[in-house]
Amino acid sequence: MPNYHTVLFDADNTLFDFDRAEREALRRALTERGYPFTPETEECYLSINRALWHRFDLGEVTQDWLLVERFRRFEAAMGGQHDPEQFNRDYLSYLGQGAFLLPGAEALCRALAPRCTLAIITNGATAAQRGRFERCAVRDCFSHLFISQELGCRKPERAYFDKVFAGMGLSGPEGVVVVGDNLLSDIRGGMDAGTDTIWYNPAGAAAPDDIRPTYTVSAFPEIARIILGDEPVPHSKTEN
Ligand SMILES: [Mg+2]
Repeated sequence: MPNYHTVLFDADNTLFDFDRAEREALRRALTERGYPFTPETEECYLSINRALWHRFDLGEVTQDWLLVERFRRFEAAMGGQHDPEQFNRDYLSYLGQGAFLLPGAEALCRALAPRCTLAIITNGATAAQRGRFERCAVRDCFSHLFISQELGCRKPERAYFDKVFAGMGLSGPEGVVVVGDNLLSDIRGGMDAGTDTIWYNPAGAAAPDDIRPTYTVSAFPEIARIILGDEPVPHSKTEN
């Protein structure tokens, strides 16, 4: 018996190599508008994007607004005149074509899928996530894909997890574990919804005192061991 019957995976930078997909999509969207794709232009966009997503994670702004606003701000910073709405549409379309899994993610999903129900829970944009999900090599491992833009609520909101549970026919959080790299959305969301949580933290970052993952791991094999329960994993348990 696995320790959990249902695993809710975050997508970006948990299973998918979002940084690589983002880079390739950005390069295409920038160069077709005549911008050089240099470390400077890339960082210009990334810093704007990071700041806006952080505000989204804190619940301060909506996703629809930030998706366009990031390119409006980028155009302003570059002194350009391109339509930010079209910029965003093109970028998301390219992003949806970049279904790059992180090394080891496929093996993890294939180890879990025969014994657990797997779903993706993501705050990413529908236009990008649907395409990547359908193209990815582990599509067949997942029964559900929950996208915040489609549900009308987002991680870490309780409403989001209520819709996930309902969509999967679950009566509650027992036997469910959330796996994700983001403390504010994935781990906070799982905690508030009553599930166990596994913080995928390959960089070894520190967690604030008020967010306590059930487990903290730095590599995919640890996730498989925790979920499948094939052997004890005392060293992975988060110390509180
Ligand atoms: Mg993530």
